[in-house]
Amino acid sequence: MNAQSTRISRRRFIASASFAAAALSLAPRQFFGAEQSLVAGARASGAKAKIATQALRGNLSALIGSGGNIAVLPGSDGKLIVDSGYLASRTQITEALDSIGRDPIKQLVNTHWHFDHTDGNEWMHSAGATIIAHENTKKHLSTTTRVDDWDFTFPPLPAAAIPTETTGAEKTLHLNGATVVLKYYGPAHTDGDVSAYFIEADVLHTGDTWWNGHYPFIDYSTGGNINGMIKAAEANLAMVTDKTIVVPGHGPVAGKTEMIEYRDILTSIRDRVAALKGEGKSLNEIVAAKVTASYDAKWATGFINGEFFTKLVYRGVG
Ligand SMILES: [Zn+2]
Repeated sequence: MNAQSTRISRRRFIASASFAAAALSLAPRQFFGAEQSLVAGARASGAKAKIATQALRGNLSALIGSGGNIAVLPGSDGKLIVDSGYLASRTQITEALDSIGRDPIKQLVNTHWHFDHTDGNEWMHSAGATIIAHENTKKHLSTTTRVDDWDFTFPPLPAAAIPTETTGAEKTLHLNGATVVLKYYGPAHTDGDVSAYFIEADVLHTGDTWWNGHYPFIDYSTGGNINGMIKAAEANLAMVTDKTIVVPGHGPVAGKTEMIEYRDILTSIRDRVAALKGEGKSLNEIVAAKVTASYDAKWATGFINGEFFTKLVYRGVG
């Protein structure tokens, strides 16, 4: 496969509302230097990000607008935060956190290693957070990690940004009167995805196993695959009822109905691509067959279009 053709364009990346709503108001050429990478561009967009604070249930809130969606549980034990957004959004995220409550940051959970969920790790640690993640997330953040699809090589993070506690298959946290269960999915979007379920509030943060309203990125370079994504979508459905409030990694907060639609679309596209690949069709022929066409108007809305998603699926089937 032509690697270049699978790379995501910078324009599509920043066109995703969940990555950088603020960047939409700027022309990409004005915003990015010519040789600036997609990752550097996304990071830079964090400086202009507007953070929306959305009350969920109980004390829980979501901060939306800088990288992956962030969940916040405040309280007298100190705040528990799920994912840390872009470093360049530190000022806006700090303001949003202060508006929720003045408690210091106590614990930070990383749902996976990607930069749009972990770039704020170092400053949140310096503000008092112990960082918790799956051991594979810790591994990727501790070493040089290449993502070909982003044409970017990530150096190891500084020690202060690296998780010091790992989750194993499951880990339960107790603070601020809440019980928070962190659960490992197995290989899905990466090989280190964990969910965070707040039992009393009945709120689930799925990390990037769920992109609400966008085709998801699947990071094969660090152990993700389409079949694991579908398994994770099933696991998410098994964890929720009609009443559960669900924070996806990207896209608006929603619930079971939207998660079922997402699971069904992933499954349908996977099955169609697998069938064509099984018939001996080439990647180009499968792309030309436009198996995602009926979904593109609604789902090719982030930085993954139908063609790129087809390529991501193709890699993981047959
Ligand atoms: Zn991700």
